[in-house]
Amino acid sequence: MKTQHTVVVIGGGTGGIMTAAQLLKRAPKLDVAIIEPADSHYYQPAFTLVGAGTYDYEDTKRPMASVIPQNAQWIQDYAAKIDGANNTVTLKSGDEVGYEYLVLSPGLVMDLSLIEGLEEAMGKDGVCSNYIDPNYTWEVIKNFKGGNAVFTQPTTPIKCGGAPQKAAYMSADYFRKQGLAAKTNLVYATPGSVIFGVKEFAAPLMEVIHRYHIHFKPFYAPVKIDSIKKEVHFKSVAPDDNKCTINEGNVLKESIVGESTIIMPYDMLHIAPPQVAPTFIRESDLVNAAGWVDVNHHTLQHNKYANIFGIGDVAALPTAKTGAAIRKQVPIVVDSILRLQRKEGLSPKVYDGYSSCPLVTGYGKMLLAEFNYKNEFTPDPKLKQLLIFDSTKEHWRMWILKKYILPYLYWNKMMKGQDV
Ligand SMILES: Cc1cc2nc3c(=O)[nH]c(=O)nc-3n(C[C@H](O)[C@H](O)[C@H](O)COP(=O)(O)OP(=O)(O)OC[C@H]3O[C@@H](n4cnc5c(N)ncnc54)[C@H](O)[C@@H]3O)c2cc1C
Repeated sequence: MKTQHTVVVIGGGTGGIMTAAQLLKRAPKLDVAIIEPADSHYYQPAFTLVGAGTYDYEDTKRPMASVIPQNAQWIQDYAAKIDGANNTVTLKSGDEVGYEYLVLSPGLVMDLSLIEGLEEAMGKDGVCSNYIDPNYTWEVIKNFKGGNAVFTQPTTPIKCGGAPQKAAYMSADYFRKQGLAAKTNLVYATPGSVIFGVKEFAAPLMEVIHRYHIHFKPFYAPVKIDSIKKEVHFKSVAPDDNKCTINEGNVLKESIVGESTIIMPYDMLHIAPPQVAPTFIRESDLVNAAGWVDVNHHTLQHNKYANIFGIGDVAALPTAKTGAAIRKQVPIVVDSILRLQRKEGLSPKVYDGYSSCPLVTGYGKMLLAEFNYKNEFTPDPKLKQLLIFDSTKEHWRMWILKKYILPYLYWNKMMKGQDV
């Protein structure tokens, strides 16, 4: 069977629902269909707080039916194949859906197979991830009695690049409160060279790292987990002159094997898994060489098919993959689709790469990194309404923003098509 719609949105997550809701707010009679298989929609930014025992997982979840706009048609199935030349999506059921305009927002998937031993290790014996099961992270943290607590970041792009370090800071604060700091080696290991790419935030974050006595390990790429021996293996991705970073003579017992493998024992291990675009996207002709949807960085229009747009985590955009970025992408795509329908060309508005990262640095403390493609600090003037005048400094008001105000705005404004 084949159905036909004016606009088809793939994915009923943050980007898909925001797009459908904004389209229908501006054009209530527009024929919009959303292809989305899941029964539930999650507010993922709160997973960090769930993993720190300060937010209920059940509160991150709402029925999908409650966020799908009333005048959109929900096709509850998986998109399995996209034929851009014939404007058709094939569903897992075999049915076909034709479109005039297609918006891709199916997010990304965790690929545990890219780290040897991770599939077997995940979710037991202290190996946890806020990306997979934040409730288990909290269980691990609560039961931690001291030893090596290791937090890692993979070599692939990930959603919310700051999330792994947020998990480290929350754990460090919790261990300090429990009197475990002296018995704990907390390691933050990243393949990157710096703690944060925006210079205004690198210095305050390094202060946080020093405050908690975190062992910061740049150029560390996790490659293997030996869950029997409770060891994580890293490859040093440092240029030759940086080898010194693997051997700083601290209390951590690392062994260096061969040229550049570092083996580190762990008592708890928080992993940000490697992340890739969903298979049906990677297998399509819509992706760039790295496997992400190949769109124009400023218009979000597909580089080959003019009636396809890509937003959110799946899009090949050189900025952080966050809901905050999507908030700025969606109005541009919506405006372009409505204008293209009227034969007026693309929206004059362009996306400058805005993204933001609410960096919780402990219970009741946060700083808010906002930036663009050029890694320039671009604070939202609306913060002043909350009496936040310098978001590079930790403040309890930003914690209130993260824990209460942003979830409220998400469910009640952004999911309803309001541009906030
Ligand atoms: C631990 C963690 C912390 C985070 N912290 C923050 C934060 O503080 N601030 C922030 O702004 N962002 C944060 N994020 C990131 C943010 O949640 C994502 O960037 C955002 O949800 C991406 O939206 P999306 O629409 O691209 O994908 P998603 O919201 O993931 O939605 C994708 C949807 O597509 C559906 N789908 C998948 N495959 C198919 C298919 N074949 N056919 C049809 N539908 C399909 C899925 O079921 C899903 O509903 C965090 C994420 C995590 C995991």
